[in-house]
This record gives sequence, structure tokens and C-alpha cells, in this order.
Amino acid sequence: MRPAVGVLAPSGVAVAVVTGAAVAVAHIVPAATWLPRFRAVCFPRLAGLGRPGHVALTFDDGPDPDSTPHFLDALDRLGVRATFFVLGESAVRFPELTRDIAERGHELAVHGWTHSRPWLPAPGRDLRETARAVHALHEITGRRPTWYRPPYGILTGGRWAAARRLGLRPVLWTAWGRDWTADATAASVRATVHADLRGGGTILLHDSDRASSPDCWHAALGALPGLITGCRDAGWQVGPLREHGIARDHGPDVPDAEAARPRQHTPATGRPAPHPT
Ligand SMILES: [Zn+2]
Repeated sequence: MRPAVGVLAPSGVAVAVVTGAAVAVAHIVPAATWLPRFRAVCFPRLAGLGRPGHVALTFDDGPDPDSTPHFLDALDRLGVRATFFVLGESAVRFPELTRDIAERGHELAVHGWTHSRPWLPAPGRDLRETARAVHALHEITGRRPTWYRPPYGILTGGRWAAARRLGLRPVLWTAWGRDWTADATAASVRATVHADLRGGGTILLHDSDRASSPDCWHAALGALPGLITGCRDAGWQVGPLREHGIARDHGPDVPDAEAARPRQHTPATGRPAPHPT
């Protein structure tokens, strides 16, 4: 009698397929929070919704010696403090600049070790690299970071688990400036931010062109005075996430695969495809 290899093999394949599908779902379902309308409604803390009289100003992709100092000087002139989501590899490459950001009163946060795209599940790598970035910022500034925003705003299951394990709170944004494009101007950045901005919102800009079109940071820099004036005219204070009042009891931080599944039917309006957040 022939052994039941023929029977066992298909079921083994089936198990592998089901397991693989489960891993893929756990990896990618939390990334549905990339859809701004979806996360603003279902996960307001993750979206960066804080107290109504305040707007959080955040920058991604630095530190960059070519551009970041210009932002620090502009923010000094405007009397504004912000949160900088930095890359660990850049922080250790430019420790003086990283320290300068903190010493000038800004908040440092984790944007990852490198600016990578999470195509495949790699929870071990996610934890290792995020921990490395946390450690680097702690070593350079003496302070442990609080916030985490993944590259491209894609919060996979692995990145989420890594952030939780390290005590980081994931925060994305409610309004961006599309400042990473080659044709961005100060006026276009201001208009794009203000189109989506409300009191309690979180603004996303970039203080580096590391993952963007060359020199596009000039548009974000040029937009700053008008943006800040516009917020103040609307009666909103502008500051870092630590002053934003994102309540811990205001809904879950991020979805798990099970919680996210039915909400995927929520209409999510129009955002373009991946961007260099
Ligand atoms: Zn980025």
C-alpha cells in the first residue's frame, strides 16, 4: 500500500497557503490606516488629532545638513517648536545636527532606521531597526523618543508591533503639503495643507529631500511663515506633538487585523499613491 503522501502533500500545501495568507493579512491590514479619512474617523490618535486649539507641526526624513538648519532658523524666527521624525542612520551620521534640533527646543521622534518600503513581512528586522533608531536618539540627546511614524506612512503589522514593544506611539498626520514633488512651491504647499487642516490637526512636511525630488525642501521652507500665520489667524497655537494633547483614552492607537477588516468598507477618499513621507 502506498503511503498517503499524495493526501498529506496537498493538505500541507494548503496549510502553508493559509498560514502565508494569515501572515500577509497581519502584515498589511494595519497599513490600511494609510488612508487619511479612514484613520481620522476610526483611529483619531493615530491620525494625530489633538486638542482643538492646537496644531502639531511635524517634519520627516531629516536630519540633513543641507536643509535642516534652514528650518531650525526659520522656526526660531517664527517662535515655533516642532516634532522631527528622523532616520536613525542620518542621526548617527550627523549627531551634532541631531543634538542641535533637541537643544533648540524641538522634539525628536523615530521615522525608522532607513527609509525602506515594507513589501514583505519582516517583524524581526522591524523590531531590530526601530530599536536601533530609539537607542541612537537616546544616546545622542539623552532623551528617549515617544513617537513613531513609519516611512511612507505605511504602518504594517510588524512596524506596529515593534513600536508597541519599544513604547513608541505611532502618529501619522491629518494634513500634508505634497512638498515632495518637483513642482511644489511655497504657495502650493500652503494651499494643500490648509485645504485639509482643522484645529487639532497634525501637519506633515519634510525638512529633507532625501526621499523626494531634489531641492523640493525649499517649497516647504518657503511655506512656513504663511502656514504659521494662517494657523494663528485661525486661533490655533502651533507646536510639537508633546503639546498636542493626544488623549490616551480617545480610541485605539492602531487597528489589529481583526478590528480593521470590517472597517475597510469605510469610504476612503482620494489620496494619490505612495509618497515619500
Ligand atoms: Zn519619510
